Amino acid sequence: MTQRIPARIIETVDAGKPIRLTPAQSGGPIHTRSFSGRFRNWRLVGGGLLFLLFFGTAWLDWDGRQAVLWDLGKQQFHIFGATFWPQDFILLSALLIIAAFGLFFITVLAGRVWCGYACPQSTWTWVFMWAEKITEGDRHQRIKLDAAPWSAGKLLRRTTKHALWLAVSLVTALAFVGYFTPVRELVRDLFTLQLDAATGFWVFFFTAATYVNAGWLREKVCLHMCPYSRFQSVMFDRDTLIVSYDAARGESRGARKIGSDPRAQGLGDCIDCTVCVQVCPTGIDIRDGLQLDCISCGACVDACDSVMDKMGYARGLIRYTSERALQGGRTRYLRPRLVGYAVAMVVMIGAFVWALQVRPLISLDVTKDRTLFRENAAGQIENAYRLKVINKTQQTRQYAVSLAAGPFELHGQRRLSLEPGEILDLPVSVALVDETARVTARTLRFEVVDLADPTSRVGTESTFVAPVR
Ligand code: SF4
Ligand code: SF4
Repeated sequence: MTQRIPARIIETVDAGKPIRLTPAQSGGPIHTRSFSGRFRNWRLVGGGLLFLLFFGTAWLDWDGRQAVLWDLGKQQFHIFGATFWPQDFILLSALLIIAAFGLFFITVLAGRVWCGYACPQSTWTWVFMWAEKITEGDRHQRIKLDAAPWSAGKLLRRTTKHALWLAVSLVTALAFVGYFTPVRELVRDLFTLQLDAATGFWVFFFTAATYVNAGWLREKVCLHMCPYSRFQSVMFDRDTLIVSYDAARGESRGARKIGSDPRAQGLGDCIDCTVCVQVCPTGIDIRDGLQLDCISCGACVDACDSVMDKMGYARGLIRYTSERALQGGRTRYLRPRLVGYAVAMVVMIGAFVWALQVRPLISLDVTKDRTLFRENAAGQIENAYRLKVINKTQQTRQYAVSLAAGPFELHGQRRLSLEPGEILDLPVSVALVDETARVTARTLRFEVVDLADPTSRVGTESTFVAPVR
């Protein structure tokens, strides 16, 4: 005979009146029961893609260099063939805004499905749960192990679990820090004990953060710390797809024999087996209605569908559906808010691609020397400047420096050769060659042009100062 482990703790309050608490309400650890099904498979796909993206791109090379690398020392962000500089941060900010709109779109369409299928917190938690399962057993074995006194077996299982958690955390931390410092050197330095203190600190920090978040905090991050969960509920509307229990079909809930007629017993389709509660990673009972704590992972849908199959009932007692559909209407997918987000996203992606194409691959900053002016050997009024020229391309480039038309003459180096990504600090001076054009302050414009591609050019204005005549 199999022992039935209660999904919920039964407590007694107020003169013997029993109330039942979900695992989340009981405050104890949530031991989820593993379950297979189509939504579990989708979670595997989502998590697999996220892992591939996260670990794969950290180790991928592109054009002889790490494909994605945020070089903090040089203030350059390399992503595949492109290099971004601090001056390009507006483009990176635009990318974040596009991602935020994507998240809004998904949330209005299907609630917290991002949380259940692709969020790093959930994905790493699923991996840690899997490590827990292979070391400590399935749900009922883990509950028993929790209650059992310490023994050699319990110590071995616990130690193996934590060692696995720490191994996953360390690999994660190395990949994450590897986006900021070349990952191959990082791993080599770690294993030859040559890691510098700052890098060592960040590896330790992200190992600890992964271990604590996915091993110990788990659903508490989703419930109490994640800002997205706070505002996503205001984005729901009556047509948003959410995981819902069909109370009209399920109630009254209760046990019955397979093959018996539930209607004759005054029962709905819910057999009150509590499997949907046992599989829930946030420890809630979806039959209590829509809750902020639900991360839309679909585990309870898979679990209940399999129970319905066993009972010979139609699937979908718990399903992804909308409030409108639950009340007998039809879910409207094409609705103004959703279309608005989609249009805004398409426009922003188009603008981003265009901005990427026309982004100047030379940068020129001009700083005027603190000395206002001086007189040169020829008796001309002269001002000094420092030009900061950056070659943002991946090739060595030759540039010409000049001044736009005006009563000035440029003195200093006019031809430059810059290596890929090189920053040149160039001192120059400008002389006023037409005394009749002398005023106390006049605008002038420096220009830098790529000699191999004259369409690639930049110009920056500054001020020329002269004494009153
Ligand atoms: S799994 Fe389905 S049948 Fe079982 S308690 Fe949950 S809703 Fe009811
Ligand atoms: S209620 Fe269902 S969909 Fe929501 S978090 Fe729990 S198992 Fe996942």
